[in-house]
Amino acid sequence: MKGRSSAGRRKTRKGQVQMRGLPVSPGIAVGEVFVLDARDLEIDEVRIAPEEIEKEERRLLDAIAETRDEVLKIRTRYRSVVGEDLVRVFDAQILLLEDEAVVDAALAEIREERRSAAAAAHHAFARAIETLSRTENEYLRDRAEDLKDVRRRLLHHLAGGRRRSFAHIDKNVILVADDLTPSETVQLPRGKVKGFATRQGGRTSHTAIMARSLQIPAVVGVEGILEEADHRDRIIVDGSEGLVVLRPEAELLRGAKSRQRRYMEVSRERLRLRDLPSVTRDGVEIRLFANVDVPEEVPLAIENRARGIGLFRTEFLYFRDVEIAREEAQTTIYRKILRRVSPDPVVFRTLDVGGDKVLDPLSAPREPNPMLGWRGIRISLDLRDLFRVQVRSLLRASTVGNLSILLPMISTLEEVLDAKRLIAEAREEVRLEGVRLPEKVRVGAMIETPGAVFLAPHIAREVDFFSIGTNDLIQYSLAVDRDNVKVAHLFDPFHPAVSSLVKLVLDAARDAGIPVSICGEMAGEPLCAILLIGLGARELSVHPYLILELKRIFSLMESGEARALAEEVLRMPSARRVREAAEQFLHELEVRGEREKG
Ligand code: PEP
Ligand code: MG
Repeated sequence: MKGRSSAGRRKTRKGQVQMRGLPVSPGIAVGEVFVLDARDLEIDEVRIAPEEIEKEERRLLDAIAETRDEVLKIRTRYRSVVGEDLVRVFDAQILLLEDEAVVDAALAEIREERRSAAAAAHHAFARAIETLSRTENEYLRDRAEDLKDVRRRLLHHLAGGRRRSFAHIDKNVILVADDLTPSETVQLPRGKVKGFATRQGGRTSHTAIMARSLQIPAVVGVEGILEEADHRDRIIVDGSEGLVVLRPEAELLRGAKSRQRRYMEVSRERLRLRDLPSVTRDGVEIRLFANVDVPEEVPLAIENRARGIGLFRTEFLYFRDVEIAREEAQTTIYRKILRRVSPDPVVFRTLDVGGDKVLDPLSAPREPNPMLGWRGIRISLDLRDLFRVQVRSLLRASTVGNLSILLPMISTLEEVLDAKRLIAEAREEVRLEGVRLPEKVRVGAMIETPGAVFLAPHIAREVDFFSIGTNDLIQYSLAVDRDNVKVAHLFDPFHPAVSSLVKLVLDAARDAGIPVSICGEMAGEPLCAILLIGLGARELSVHPYLILELKRIFSLMESGEARALAEEVLRMPSARRVREAAEQFLHELEVRGEREKG
């Protein structure tokens, strides 16, 4: 029988439900739902007597101290499991817990409103959570989850109880919850929790980052999941596609299980590929680099033997930590990453905010067309001090590894020249301060606007390398907002115009004798990657977990075959035709590969 019992037994005979969310950690999990009870403790709102005020104030302060100890203990316990960087979230929680404004507000409620310590804390934290969750900054919004996490702990201490644990979980399950707090995520019994689906959560939330790092398939932002899911329901969580299916019908279940088997087979096979070179059947090397958004992704890039980091999106550092605006803090973090990856190269892209990525301290009045507005290099060249600090930090860090600087959103030659001038000035400053800089720090340009594509032969003379950002190049060439679901079907990397534009850039780079890497999402999609290799690309930068699958596919194909496919594609009139041709090509590769394996 299906259903959760509350007062009476609630019998539901619901059918299959499919839901979509954000795929934040790849893999497929099939199993039984464990609904993590999201109920907070009951808060007693009865007014306290005047003589109880002092006692309640003391209880609140004691409970804050106990909660702090508890969080510190968790921090220590999990540091060895997930590493120093990931447990920093607990430092942030302690700061939030002890935030003077919130604690003072709670104490004032006890005194002035004669509320119990629990009710006062509940209200004061609720207001702070509300404020954080309403900001436009995605990073700050995600911190509201940390605040909820500490509030829950604090209220349990005030209630004299222990917070709910995962002790109930005695078999393999898939967690369904409103949200998993970061501390809950690191405490998941990894052997038992095979996946999770939550209603809330964002891409940069620590929960998502930790899921990737712990390699648990996860989908977040699944609207309606709590209303639909019942304890012990069967569920499929596809963390690669962002799909959740509750009570799947037999056929879908079979399909998911076979995809799961395939995923596991591929993962096993992929592990064998780790140490193999990334080459095509006819021996052409394809250099695979990693795209990294947050430092926690660096270890996987190293494990999967990326040739280096081809795109480090520095803006996520700014989203996480306002302190990063300081030169010392930035230099330290860049050095740390370089040391980790050394002797392989790291390409740091300078701050690329604006458009879809709004950095709060910079928030200017809303723009009518943010994607066509103040973003990327345009901001850096306007806020020169901000750029100067970032470049100085990068240069100072460059002494410990192989560092390159990449300029985003270039659309004119002047932007490149102006940025290079600022870099040269910063270099001179740093040199005069006595830092022994490497002879050359390479500077590259992102080619992600049609304007830059057509100027590529000129820009190539001014930079050391190109990086093609296909996400924006598709957005700007096809006039399709990359984040607008209404036109998502038009955001198509198979559009023949995209191949033509990429080819122009590859040719310009070859003629100028500079390397070019392709770093948009397209580079990590096998069908597109084949096409890009056919067009002449020899360097791709992709999410670290995609590296092994790409190596497998390259090992099946001859570079000449891919070139012939690309030549055909350049003459095709529609995206549908291109996609079909690429699918057929890959199918034939797989069949041949299977046949040869015997
Ligand atoms: C791109 O535009 O393809 C790219 C890699 O940059 P981002 O996705 O960060 O805009
Ligand atoms: Mg871009």
